[in-house]
Amino acid sequence: MGQTLTEKILDDHLVEGELEPGEEIGIEIDQVLTQDTTGTLVWLQFDALDLDNVQTEVAAQYCDHQTYQFDFKNTDDHRFLRSAAGKFGAHFSRPGNGICHNVHKENFAAPGKTMLGSDSHTPTPGGMGELAIGAGGLDVAVAMGGGAYYIDMPEVVNVRLEGELPEWATAKDVILELLRRLSVKGGVGKIFEYTGPGVESLSVPERTTITNMGTELGATSSIFPTDEKTEEYLDAVGRPEDYEAVAPDEDAEYHDEIVVDLSDLEPLIAEPSMPDKVVPVREVEGTDVDQVMIGSCTNGAYEDILPAAKMLEDREINKTTEMIVAPGSKQASEMLAREGWTAEMMAAGVNFSEATCGACIGNGHVPASDSVSLRTFNRNFEGRSGIEDDSVFLCSPEVATAAALKGEIVDPRDLADEMGDLEDPGFELGDNYVGVSSSDLITPDEAVDDELIKGPNIGDVPLKDPLPADLSGDVLLKMPDNITTDHISPANADVLMYRSNIPKLSEFTLTRVDETFPERALENDGGLLLAGENYGQGSSREHAALCPMYLGIDAVLAQSFARIHKANLFNFGIVPLTIDEDTYEEIDQGDSVEIVDDVAEAVRSGQEDITIRIDDDWEATANLDASEREREILADGGKLTHVKQQYESDD
Ligand code: SF4
Repeated sequence: MGQTLTEKILDDHLVEGELEPGEEIGIEIDQVLTQDTTGTLVWLQFDALDLDNVQTEVAAQYCDHQTYQFDFKNTDDHRFLRSAAGKFGAHFSRPGNGICHNVHKENFAAPGKTMLGSDSHTPTPGGMGELAIGAGGLDVAVAMGGGAYYIDMPEVVNVRLEGELPEWATAKDVILELLRRLSVKGGVGKIFEYTGPGVESLSVPERTTITNMGTELGATSSIFPTDEKTEEYLDAVGRPEDYEAVAPDEDAEYHDEIVVDLSDLEPLIAEPSMPDKVVPVREVEGTDVDQVMIGSCTNGAYEDILPAAKMLEDREINKTTEMIVAPGSKQASEMLAREGWTAEMMAAGVNFSEATCGACIGNGHVPASDSVSLRTFNRNFEGRSGIEDDSVFLCSPEVATAAALKGEIVDPRDLADEMGDLEDPGFELGDNYVGVSSSDLITPDEAVDDELIKGPNIGDVPLKDPLPADLSGDVLLKMPDNITTDHISPANADVLMYRSNIPKLSEFTLTRVDETFPERALENDGGLLLAGENYGQGSSREHAALCPMYLGIDAVLAQSFARIHKANLFNFGIVPLTIDEDTYEEIDQGDSVEIVDDVAEAVRSGQEDITIRIDDDWEATANLDASEREREILADGGKLTHVKQQYESDD
């Protein structure tokens, strides 16, 4: 039996386990990526592990999430990150140089390689045949030190693309269509592998829009084979030598198959406030639009902005609508500027922002209250834009630009009919990626620091004691389904500035759900959390496990967990227990929960069914689904202590 592309790459990098779905495997990592909000912890943990030097082929530190400077804290973090990259041998991308996934795609991503990144949209370069997976920062630190990355072997799903996109339909509509069909939970435990005759009609930037947003499906990763389009892109970015032909075997067997006929697609839009609330644009036509934003790691490439520029040529945006373009990388900015498109868009009324995540996580360009914002981003979770009552729609740059021209949501096909002279701008690959922005990427050879520089806002990483025999506590918070890591550890600017100061950052833990939570947790000396389905979905942020750990949370009872967050809970010594819906319904906030068994013993021995006693009154069964390695990590009090112990015993 032949192999899928995923299996081929994993086989090439396998250090432990077998490629059976659900089995834990250990793989060698070629490249790592980290960004500024997760990076400080990555390097503090790398340092705490007493590691000397980066061992992967490529390690890159980007500064993209928090580039606006409110006081010294962000700049201190960026200086610390530059010093860590210099001391340990990583590339350092300066603030303003662009979003990690865009800059990585342009400079490092390569077919057949494995990549681990401390950001949930790490799978983006799957559009170039790289198998890239998002993980918690500690996993990234360990991989960067040469350690294997462990993951349960996902199921590989064949997404067969037929036909070609019709006018005004885009790559964004391909992934929105999958979200419409499968929902934000449809990809959990899966890798989506794109095949079929439709693949060759899509360029690399279009493919990476799709692989980027596979994260919204909950997928572990998404990947395309390589072909002339991949060669063409690597040529354009000046790295033809990185091309390698990678493809599945013709007789590869997949766990499942989904067929998407590209020619059936039409402009789609995700309504507030979930990426899977997808409808045809025509269903919401006529909705007034106050703000339009083009950018992010999903649609911030030169090739994504160019269609908007062409649609705006010799036109003006509607007077009631604000339009902002935030290119994904400085290189994209530079190319647009050199070709005169920046001036063209400015003349149309566009406001340019620097190449950064910014508005995607509520840092700048916060929408007005009770207003509608159309964005080309990947997420529209409630409150993510910076205000709680936001109303953010997700769409392609073409749909966003049509809305900016008309001042309301409109299908570009209908706007074209109405205007008479508006044409589908089509797709065009940039042909000159070499530019001044290379000065913003400091290579290990050019490093300017050889010691860590820590400002007063940068603390140490807290450690947890080994798991005790007795574990009990009150349910401090009962939460519904789909709690995101943004709910657990908010990422807006006034909170995020404390990302390297865990005691301070912990004061904001779960305050989006209940303002009193951090105080109650500290007063109560810890306790447990209770949640519905898909707990911890969203970004990979390990602060969402670290801060609850700091507040004394010992266990989370949930109907199901998002993959990266569950791994982060193990890494920080918090027991993730799965319960059924009836048990969830019956437990109330404030109830006391006792784990009847000797927890440390149960965890180490491989026991899966764990008996919990509620209010000393009734009992239920919870499930601990964990590998032997995860159980050891949990019992030792978290991965940092566990790995340190391993290194010490190896010496
Ligand atoms: Fe940045 Fe938004 Fe992409 Fe995350 S999803 S990397 S915040 S642009």
